[in-house]
Amino acid sequence: MATQEVWTIGRILKWTQDFFAKHGVESPRLDAEVLLAHLLDKERIYLYVHFDEPLEKPELARFHDMVKQRVSHVPVAYILGEKEFMGLPFRVTEDTLVPRPDTEILVQAAVERLKKLAGVQAEAAGEAEPEKGKPVLKFADIGTGTGAICLSVLKFTKDTEAATVDISEKARAVAEGNAEALGVADRVTFYTGDLLGPVQGQKFHAILSNPPYIPDAEVGQLQADVRLSEPHTALAGGADGLDFYRRLCAEGPEMLLPGGFLAFEVGIHQAEAVAELAKANPLIGDTEIIKDLAGIERVVVADLK
Ligand code: SAM
Ligand code: GLN
Repeated sequence: MATQEVWTIGRILKWTQDFFAKHGVESPRLDAEVLLAHLLDKERIYLYVHFDEPLEKPELARFHDMVKQRVSHVPVAYILGEKEFMGLPFRVTEDTLVPRPDTEILVQAAVERLKKLAGVQAEAAGEAEPEKGKPVLKFADIGTGTGAICLSVLKFTKDTEAATVDISEKARAVAEGNAEALGVADRVTFYTGDLLGPVQGQKFHAILSNPPYIPDAEVGQLQADVRLSEPHTALAGGADGLDFYRRLCAEGPEMLLPGGFLAFEVGIHQAEAVAELAKANPLIGDTEIIKDLAGIERVVVADLK
């Protein structure tokens, strides 16, 4: 009878790393560790100090399923059902884009500007600080997905309230769940529909968006994980990728309150074109382009005149 080798944590990690590498998974060791740690409901460090611990049969079967999904290009975030963004946990499903670290640049820019605006408003009202607990600044997040942008801005600012729009009912349900879980549900209203349509007639201090911006013809050339697993309605931005910015720049500025701004994430090499689209609206004054950590122009901010 053949001796049955025991599947310890150390052995299964090594095997999975090699298997992932053979199947072109980009970060084979990291993904193996993240999936196994999640399965065992432990931190990754636990794996390192328990290399000799054997896995139970049901654990092995569940891990096998996860590994199978990963080699069919399902991103780790979808397998786990969650992704960390701005240090906060977001539930994700295949109906929502997985929030990207690049998008944190947009959140940081928005938080900084909203705080400044709150200070200016308080000064104008003759107060040192805005009155506690009273929503004074209103912003919109257009194409909200998991709610990553909107909900983290709410978490990192006081005295703000938000309206979000997404064309996907299913994404809305995920974002609503995230708002509850993050304890900000009472400060946000969710709408389903096309861009600014559902919030027509409302005014905002800021309109934020990470719209679909991949040129249609390039969606088919994206990395397999993105192309095969993420929703195309979250990615395709028209022939040149700029369709959504055209509409947001044409319709957004008249929905801004005094001191208000638009802030958009943009794709590689799109920043100048998007800044020009914003400036083409006579209501817009200054624009600013902010780079991400890799030095890529990532966010365009456009101020109301
Ligand atoms: N804001 C999320 C983030 O940064 O992780 C998701 C951004 S994803 C690139 C774009 C989102 O816009 C998707 O959730 C998609 O469903 C939504 N969307 C696409 N077309 C839309 C439209 N016409 N009106 C509103 N939302 C739309
Ligand atoms: N950043 C995403 C990607 O490169 C695209 C998201 C978007 O279209 N806004 O896959």
